Amino acid sequence: MIKIGLDLGGTKIAGIALSPDGAELAHHRIATPQNYPDIIKACVDLVRHVNKGAAFNRVGICTPGVIDQEKGMVMFSPNVPGLKDQHFAHDLSAALSAPVHLANDAACFALSESIDGAGAAARIVYGVVLGTGVGGALVVDKKMPSGPNRANEWGHVPLPWAEPDDVPGRCGCGKMGCVESYCSGTALHRQLAQKLGRTITNDELLTGIAKNDPAIMQVMERFMLHLAKSFAMLITILDPDVIVLGGGVSNLELLYHRIPELLGLYTPFPNVKTKIIKAKHGDDSGLRGAAHL
Ligand SMILES: [Zn+2]
Repeated sequence: MIKIGLDLGGTKIAGIALSPDGAELAHHRIATPQNYPDIIKACVDLVRHVNKGAAFNRVGICTPGVIDQEKGMVMFSPNVPGLKDQHFAHDLSAALSAPVHLANDAACFALSESIDGAGAAARIVYGVVLGTGVGGALVVDKKMPSGPNRANEWGHVPLPWAEPDDVPGRCGCGKMGCVESYCSGTALHRQLAQKLGRTITNDELLTGIAKNDPAIMQVMERFMLHLAKSFAMLITILDPDVIVLGGGVSNLELLYHRIPELLGLYTPFPNVKTKIIKAKHGDDSGLRGAAHL
């Protein structure tokens, strides 16, 4: 049986078909329709497009937001408002005549990197997505632990060991001072704009880092300190073998050198053995993880 995964985002829906051993058989993307019946139809069309007539016994879907897996509903979707309060998994399952499993994008990312990605050799994998917001999920022995709250929201705890001049920002969840309000790609660009007096592009950021620009490096150093503090908290509680990073910010190579140097300052044990590593499957990780659901 082949595996089918969909990644439902605000602007596009991506679909993938994987062989049982994880080889990519087909990959396609389409625009995300606005209204709910059209979203269902688009998902069905996309599954038919990537499966090319081959048999599959379920479809996995990843999407950002808060998901009630028991009900198969998206309780809060930051990018696809049409999904809110709809019995999405049930309705799509009826349209496809196959079971549909729904999970958060960070959970799918962590699962993908644990099964055949950067964390494939590790037993306890914590996946972190640093993008518009931040996401996180724990995978143990290539399975997602399913606690009663399906929580795993690393980004929505307060930043640990905040300094007096760490001004807490309002988080997307409504609270003040969450890790997300310091450590997302959005937060990084806000901190850069505050320091430089103007917004800069990702290319300008990369050039600034390459040239060791003092103002940009000062912002990066504080940003990486915030990441190190929040990873130290994760490591102290969960003791993962690896923390795998994904999302746009994960492309900044200096993270993988500097954060490990800082971790031991904030853990009760100075020699931290947890590795901070970059995702293997890049932007496709969530999609591949959905196929593995
Ligand atoms: Zn929050």
